[in-house]
Amino acid sequence: MATEDPAKMLSHAAYDSKVEGNIIFTRLDSAINWMRKNSLWPMPMGLACCAIELMATGAARFDISRFGAEVMRFSPRQADVMIVSGTVTYKMALAVRRIWEQMPEPKWCIAMGACASSGGMYRSYAVLQGIDQLLPVDVYISGCPPRPEALLEGLMKLQRIIEGETPIEDQIAGIREATL
Ligand code: SF4
Repeated sequence: MATEDPAKMLSHAAYDSKVEGNIIFTRLDSAINWMRKNSLWPMPMGLACCAIELMATGAARFDISRFGAEVMRFSPRQADVMIVSGTVTYKMALAVRRIWEQMPEPKWCIAMGACASSGGMYRSYAVLQGIDQLLPVDVYISGCPPRPEALLEGLMKLQRIIEGETPIEDQIAGIREATL
C-alpha cells in the first residue's frame, strides 16, 4: 500500500483562509432571530395624523429599507409588526383588534405617538385610552406626532427585543400546549 507523502498530508490539515472566511458558527435561535428582526413587514395601521409621519418614514429620505422593514403590507396575513399610528376611537378599536388577530404568529406591535400609546389629548368618551388595552404592545413611541427618526428608533428597539427571544423553546411550548 502506497504511503501518502507527509508534505501533502500536512497541507490537507493546514489552515485554509478561504474556508475559514466562509463559515459562520451560530445558534439556531440566533439565526432565526437575525432573520426575523431584519425582515419585519409592517402592517401600517394609520388612524389619524401620526400616519402622515408613518408614510414619511416609508419614503426615500428616511430609507426604512436599511432595517428590512420597507415591505408595508395591507393584508394582515402577510404582516409581522402592526404599527398603530393615530387616535384609536371606539368605533375603530374592534376593527384594529380583528386585524391584529388575523396576523400570524410571531407578531409584534408598535404604538406610535401619544394617541396610540395613551389616548393622547383625547380624554374623551369616544377614544380608547391606549391600544394596549386591546392588544399587547412591544414598543411605545412618544410624540405628537413622533418624527420618522423616532419611529426608526422604535423599530431598532423592537429589533433588540427580537434578538433576545427564544423561538425554538416558544415553538416547543406552543406544540405542547396545542396537544394537551
Ligand atoms: S399623537 Fe398627535 S399627531 Fe398623533 S394622532 Fe394623536 S393628535 Fe395626531
